[in-house]
Amino acid sequence: MMLDTAADFDVRQYLRLETMPHFLCPGCGHGIALRALLWALHEIGIDRDRLAVFSGIGCAGRLSAYIDANTFHVTHGRPLAYATGFALARPDMHVVVISGDGDCLAIGGNHLIHACRRNLKMTCLMLNNEVYGMTGGQVSPTTSESMLTTTTPLGNAEPAFDACALATAAGAGFVGREVTHHVPRLKELIRQGLEHPGFAFIEVLSDCTEIFGRKNELGSSPEMILRQKSEIRPSAYRDTVDTPFRSTELRTGVLSRNERPEYGAAYREAAAAAAGAAAGRAGQR
Ligand code: SF4
Repeated sequence: MMLDTAADFDVRQYLRLETMPHFLCPGCGHGIALRALLWALHEIGIDRDRLAVFSGIGCAGRLSAYIDANTFHVTHGRPLAYATGFALARPDMHVVVISGDGDCLAIGGNHLIHACRRNLKMTCLMLNNEVYGMTGGQVSPTTSESMLTTTTPLGNAEPAFDACALATAAGAGFVGREVTHHVPRLKELIRQGLEHPGFAFIEVLSDCTEIFGRKNELGSSPEMILRQKSEIRPSAYRDTVDTPFRSTELRTGVLSRNERPEYGAAYREAAAAAAGAAAGRAGQR
């Protein structure tokens, strides 16, 4: 059943209310991202019994525990690895991964590039708050240059990764980015990712008010969200991304599509062909 209006979406239907109140700081963008994901799932009409959500460690990693579905809170940087095994074994399930920038690009960076290359059907939501928020505010692969963190007290001297450029270069079937300021657009992007018949990577620029924002004197949550909005330029569609490092101007929307065979279907087809050939040889003996 397809549900397509905001009016009939009640986020409480999709939450484990017994886990409330949640642990997110006031103004944290991760709550907006979670709501957009649940709204997209609602619109598509995905049965929660057929939904599996994997997350790693960190503030973003905590979100799976709040979703009333089949959820797996796994080790740091490994949600894509767990999800890969699960998706291969259960192609009947919808698989979603929620990961932070440190979880997805640093500790789990190797899993990300191979998940993009492999193209197994799942949707990976990377919540980018530019910092390791839960563990005290250390620099992450997406911390912008010159920004302060507890491990870059003089300002970050490294260029930040452009996660979408990385995912595109590694072969992800669907790549997109959005800010939490544009909730309906974010929901729509996630919906398209969920419907993509392969690996979908979506970066959500999410504000960390308490750790990153306070350290860099970026103001309140609305001020941080407006600042993120001012740095982006909507992009209807692009096949390539100019630079592997993040520039001051970030594109949002669907950034690339790469339609090619989905790994799970290709694997099952090869396995069936091998089983048929083996049965044929046995019948000749
Ligand atoms: S530390 Fe930052 S990212 Fe973590 S919950 Fe608080 S505001 Fe959000």
